[in-house]
Amino acid sequence: MKIRIFHTGTVCVSPSLPFKDKEKDPNPVQMTLLSSYGRRNRVWLPVSAYLIEHPRGRLLVDTGWHREISPEGKYNRFAQVKHMGVGHFLLNQGVVPQGEALVEQLAAMGIQPKDIDYLILSHLHTDHASGLRQFTDAKRILVSREELDDTKKYAVRYAARMWKGVKFDPFSFEETGVGPVGRSLDLFGDGSVELIQIPGHTSGLTAVKLNGGGKFVLLFADGGYAKKSWEELIPPGTALDEKQAFHSLEWIRQMSMNEDCLASLANHDPDVRPSEIVLD
Ligand SMILES: [Zn+2]
Repeated sequence: MKIRIFHTGTVCVSPSLPFKDKEKDPNPVQMTLLSSYGRRNRVWLPVSAYLIEHPRGRLLVDTGWHREISPEGKYNRFAQVKHMGVGHFLLNQGVVPQGEALVEQLAAMGIQPKDIDYLILSHLHTDHASGLRQFTDAKRILVSREELDDTKKYAVRYAARMWKGVKFDPFSFEETGVGPVGRSLDLFGDGSVELIQIPGHTSGLTAVKLNGGGKFVLLFADGGYAKKSWEELIPPGTALDEKQAFHSLEWIRQMSMNEDCLASLANHDPDVRPSEIVLD
């Protein structure tokens, strides 16, 4: 199986969002542009997505930004507010240069949304679900039931307009003993693709573990923001459940240090460059 890593533009956040500021311990509002704390030292991080060429089909993990946030490929405040609403814009801004929206990068490779067999959403926060309406033709769009429940329970954390008209295929984790809370789904029943619940950042946050030739690649989404997150056990600055987020991070650390781990990738790690990994 082949794993292609894409960067689909960038997201701008307070540095305390990826890495918890233990002294200040700011709340989510303090991390927005509304607060002087939130305006300080903001950082631009990549927004990744992944294409997996698997013998059973073509898988995509996350969608990155929609072209709508940057109609001209440049920073556009008004377009973003229109696309995600002012609340989300205050927390994270984005840019997607021309040709870098996921759908555009795939088109350049000759792949259309209808050619995607499984689109897997790690979770439904704006920078992961923004491009969804560009992929309505994907054959199946998978999201965990826990994540869908969160979008109703904590609606303010999501921009539901991003999946207007999108038909989800909700999946349930099973009690497999795999993962930080022992819940996962073996997608094809052959152990090659495991969707693993790593709750904390959101309840339904899903890591994707790809197994082949005795090795594995772990895509841990926003379970941590970089290698140093698990190396130094630095939790993200916001989590729905901080205790769970830390427990999931400990599990990510354990998996990442496993000698069979070929790569362990955070979605927003600037040190992870667009590239291809072969796993056979
Ligand atoms: Zn994210």
